[in-house]
Amino acid sequence: MNEMIRIRDLHKAFGANEVLKGIDFDVLDAQVVVVIGPSGSGKSTLLRCCNGLEIAQQGTIDICGVRLLDAGQMIPERELNRLRTQVGMVFQSFNLFPHLSVLDNVTVGPRTLQGLTRQQAETRAHVLLNKVGLNDKVHAMPASLSGGQKQRVAIARALAMEPKVMLFDEPTSALDPELVGEVLQVMKLLAREGMTMMVVTHEMGFARDVADTVAVMDGGRIIEAGPPSVIFSHPKEARTRGFLQAVLAPDRQPLIEGMA
Ligand code: ADP
Ligand code: MG
Repeated sequence: MNEMIRIRDLHKAFGANEVLKGIDFDVLDAQVVVVIGPSGSGKSTLLRCCNGLEIAQQGTIDICGVRLLDAGQMIPERELNRLRTQVGMVFQSFNLFPHLSVLDNVTVGPRTLQGLTRQQAETRAHVLLNKVGLNDKVHAMPASLSGGQKQRVAIARALAMEPKVMLFDEPTSALDPELVGEVLQVMKLLAREGMTMMVVTHEMGFARDVADTVAVMDGGRIIEAGPPSVIFSHPKEARTRGFLQAVLAPDRQPLIEGMA
């Protein structure tokens, strides 16, 4: 299997605050990696480094066989922009263009960055909006949508660029609880279709069902990583156990049969 993302010795500081303290990690083709860990552990920074939104001072990042970062040097802007089209990102806060309809949100990237005609872009958008269950909202404006619908548009918009990797940063954290499921459903569908995904989330049920690998971050490091069955039932690190206990309310079902 190919490595879609290959990260070596990644260090990132904001001023004197070293936020990533040497990350070595691979995401293989068609794998789903779920990244968990306490607030402030560096999860968002790690994702943002992977599509060039943050520049790390040390280390290398290869994405889809292209070296994005080499010893703290980013590839030139032109190549970065091309690479970004292959790395879709979905944020907690949707970030839709408020003045554009759902359809235009999904077509604007392919039209302006990939040179598709309006008709080509709309054909692609209709397929994707159907996939995320929003074919009845094509002409709606973002303000009229629920959070779950907005996030599904954001996913369709990212997919419209035909990315090779999708990065999700807490995509359901801003949603009312009853809307979380519809977004996770779409993400599960993508995973089944073989999309390579790196997902920061506190949805442990999703991690258990969908992740090939769960990576646990704490204090700027990946302290352990493995299949969900291992991480959730036999974590090696006390910090992982502490985090899982804090996230899983005591009245919730155990993630893995037999887990205390
Ligand atoms: P997580 O997503 O795990 O909560 P983050 O990657 O957002 O963690 O943040 C890790 C650390 O980096 C935090 O201490 C945060 O304050 C700091 N940080 C993140 N982004 C910035 C920034 N743009 N400028 C300064 N500090 C930042
Ligand atoms: Mg974060």
